[in-house]
Amino acid sequence: MTKPFRFCPSCSSGLPGRGEEGTIVCPNCRRHWYYNPSPATGAVIVRDGRALVCRRAFEPEAGKYDLPGGFLRVGEHPVDGLKREVSEELGLEIDVETSDLVLFATHTYGDDDTWNLSLCFGARLVSGEPTPADDVAEVRWVTLTELDDIELAWAHDREAIERALSTPSGR
Ligand SMILES: [Zn+2]
Repeated sequence: MTKPFRFCPSCSSGLPGRGEEGTIVCPNCRRHWYYNPSPATGAVIVRDGRALVCRRAFEPEAGKYDLPGGFLRVGEHPVDGLKREVSEELGLEIDVETSDLVLFATHTYGDDDTWNLSLCFGARLVSGEPTPADDVAEVRWVTLTELDDIELAWAHDREAIERALSTPSGR
């Protein structure tokens, strides 16, 4: 379990427990500490009818496969965040636009009460061969059939891959 704040991160006053909907309101400075999912992005990079999947090097879900991508920074557009993450993780430049969104999903991330909001996009490879950074143990290009033989960290990744692979030219 992820422990809720016990002291206000803004003014250091003691805080009550999470209220309805999980929000905590500081009794001193009245600031609201929201309990929301963290936005993250994933790319279904398609080449020759195959999608790129990454084996996770770190927990949570170490050893299982997922889509390249990651958490957004504050103020970052999801498409820009996705391009940045794919570049950092794999050294790849991808072509992706807002209209390439194929799926969004909410799911737990490690702890049962830590939640993500995942946005998955179809994407085209612009240049480069995948060169995994340290948080990626291995990469594979897989067909839908080959997906049956690997264990995905998050079930919705399969649906995102199905949708991206079934769209002509990856769009
Ligand atoms: Zn406070």
